[in-house]
Amino acid sequence: MRLSVRFGEILPDRELESIFELEPASLKAAGKRGIIFDLDNTLAPRGARQLDRAALALLDRLREEGLLVGILSNDQGLGREHLQGRTEGCPIYFNARKPRRAVFRQLLREMGLSPEEAVMVGDNLFTDIWGAKRLGLYAILVRPLDPREPSHIRLVRLAARAALSLGRLLGC
Ligand SMILES: [Mg+2]
Repeated sequence: MRLSVRFGEILPDRELESIFELEPASLKAAGKRGIIFDLDNTLAPRGARQLDRAALALLDRLREEGLLVGILSNDQGLGREHLQGRTEGCPIYFNARKPRRAVFRQLLREMGLSPEEAVMVGDNLFTDIWGAKRLGLYAILVRPLDPREPSHIRLVRLAARAALSLGRLLGC
């Protein structure tokens, strides 16, 4: 994997409090045709076996608005295979190895989208945002659903917050 990070590539294009602040009309007006979601701590609490009713309703609403929806998770997906069935018409790729681009490309191909037509929504700068921006997707960072996380993940988030602050300071 290429390890050099261009600073702008880990900075999101937009930050939202949660997935429920997404505005399908303005995304469509900007030429976006589909949204790729991270799963853990974006659509559902880490390791959750189900998407809750609100998240499922949001995915339905986005699709009613004419947007394509997919899910890209770095989790192995063990014991979560049934999620596929619960979100019909919404491809889910587990073990995506974000920020690698291969599975992003695979999902985009399946959804029939070019990178420019897609939006990535996730809670992690170094996987979701970096992976998306390396490919040219518009990237939206959301606040993680569950603030109670293991300390090594909290450390990564601290580094991410520092990177974001630095980016703003430099006007990136
Ligand atoms: Mg996540």
